[in-house]
Amino acid sequence: MTSDFDYIVIGGGSSGCALAARLSEDPAVTVALLEAGGDGTDFVIRTPLAGLAMIPTRLNNWAFESVPQPALNGRRIYQPRGRSLGGSSILNAMVYMRGHRSDYDRWAALGNTGWSFDDVLPYFKRSEDNESLHDEYHGRGGPLSVAHSRTGNPFHAIWLEAAKEAGLPINVDFNGAEQEGLGVYQVTQRNGERWSAARAYIHPIMGHRANLSVRTHTRVRRIVLEGQRATGVEIMQDGEPRLLRARREIILSAGAMQSPQLLMLSGIGDARMLSSIGIKPVHDLPGVGRNLHDHPDFIFGVRVPSTDLLGFSPAGIARLVSESGRYRRERRGMVTTNFAECGGFLRALPDSPAPEFQLHFVVGIVEDHARKLHAHHGLSCHVCLLRPRSRGTVELASPNPDDAPRIDPGYFNDPGDLEQMVLGYKLTRRVLDAPSLSRLYTRDLFTAHVKTDDDIRAILRERVDTVYHPAGTCAMGIDEMAVVDPQLRVRGLEGLRVADASILPTPIGGNTNAPCIMIGEKAADLIRNARH
Ligand SMILES: Cc1cc2nc3c(=O)[nH]c(=O)nc-3n(C[C@H](O)[C@H](O)[C@H](O)COP(=O)(O)OP(=O)(O)OC[C@H]3O[C@@H](n4cnc5c(N)ncnc54)[C@H](O)[C@@H]3O)c2cc1C
Repeated sequence: MTSDFDYIVIGGGSSGCALAARLSEDPAVTVALLEAGGDGTDFVIRTPLAGLAMIPTRLNNWAFESVPQPALNGRRIYQPRGRSLGGSSILNAMVYMRGHRSDYDRWAALGNTGWSFDDVLPYFKRSEDNESLHDEYHGRGGPLSVAHSRTGNPFHAIWLEAAKEAGLPINVDFNGAEQEGLGVYQVTQRNGERWSAARAYIHPIMGHRANLSVRTHTRVRRIVLEGQRATGVEIMQDGEPRLLRARREIILSAGAMQSPQLLMLSGIGDARMLSSIGIKPVHDLPGVGRNLHDHPDFIFGVRVPSTDLLGFSPAGIARLVSESGRYRRERRGMVTTNFAECGGFLRALPDSPAPEFQLHFVVGIVEDHARKLHAHHGLSCHVCLLRPRSRGTVELASPNPDDAPRIDPGYFNDPGDLEQMVLGYKLTRRVLDAPSLSRLYTRDLFTAHVKTDDDIRAILRERVDTVYHPAGTCAMGIDEMAVVDPQLRVRGLEGLRVADASILPTPIGGNTNAPCIMIGEKAADLIRNARH
């Protein structure tokens, strides 16, 4: 088997799949895509409802845990991450979202030339094959299929009615000119099946493109440097360490937890911290693993006796059996659910440049990442803070590459985030208390006792969790804490870039899969342009 390539991409997730596919479009270069998990083709992954059922499990999932969070009553926060070609896009909620124009303009204002909204929009469009929205904001014919929900759930209309009753605008395209408002989400699906980044970019070319070598079940243990240049990666094969060499560049796309971990395992990071854990520092880069940001999220839950909502009752199970038949025949109905079928963006302060909160309206009761199941039917509504000021860290727990990193998201480290979430709680309550919805409830599961602002603060500390958007741990920028420059090159080294969620310098207002795919697309152009 060849062990020399022009480019080695580490991690076949949302960014890595897009990057490896685009880089290997040039037949003059050879590309290796190395993925620790499997090939991401299983039926479980393709079928939306089954794929979501992996979130609480270890199936195709790294299933990390954070360290105890002091501002969340000492709770450890579960951190699922996809482990397969497709990365986290194999178990995510398939919501297609790009974030707000002002998020990218902020990146550019921080010195990240080339990353304003107008700069990145062409990459979102290039990646996209939107089934139904065709205007200057959307792409057609790209690898990533984007479609309207095929569940036909009557709760979509109820959600929209509640929005109107609450005096909130309706939005039919959250990725168009205006983000604010409530509506039904578009999803990364085609014909009712999950459209992971692997399905979009890699499966169609795997085994057919001679210059692309896709190696699954291949976990990288460290990056090898010769002087200041990255020249290869160490993998384990048949129980023995083996070196794969990169003639031109290595690109790290192992995600927000594992890209910084791999840099640190390779001696790249805060020199003092590395020495303290027994790793010989090779390149002092204090920002590695800092700046971890995530959207803190609270979930309301209510019982509603309707089999249009998921629930583990006899009637619910009978409904699922009949829905499975429908799915086989039509690829429509409940089995195509992405759980978070509706939602939207709300502004608490009229003069904020962008909505501060995102809602995910879920057609079932979600508690503890679906690790706690409910026999009753019901619905949930998430509210998350889109631009938290709190920052956390990813560090090495040990020098052993097989150990999970030490993850400290630092939720509510900045007390202002808790106060913002109080506003978000109240805004969401306004929608949930609208007559079209509230007349259906038989029981408020988590917040019946919450009356005062202090009650709200207490319930937030008790129940706030992740909405799965950790990012920022190899931040792009131009200051001394930046890990990569605006070309995504690791500062001070040659032949090494990072391209995935870890480069986000500041949070974006929305879900992170489409942005990571955009990063992979853009990274391919940056690398190609550097060669010519
Ligand atoms: C449960 C859940 C729900 C979500 N819902 C949504 C949603 O609805 N919409 C949305 O837009 N976003 C959602 N997200 C977030 C989004 O999916 C992620 O932000 C995005 O997929 C991250 O992309 P990435 O390329 O940074 O990393 P990933 O996609 O996580 O890819 C990293 C890859 O690297 C591999 N890897 C790691 N270490 C190594 C190593 N040492 N060697 C080789 N390979 C390695 C991993 O196995 C993985 O395949 C969700 C995420 C989760 C977990």
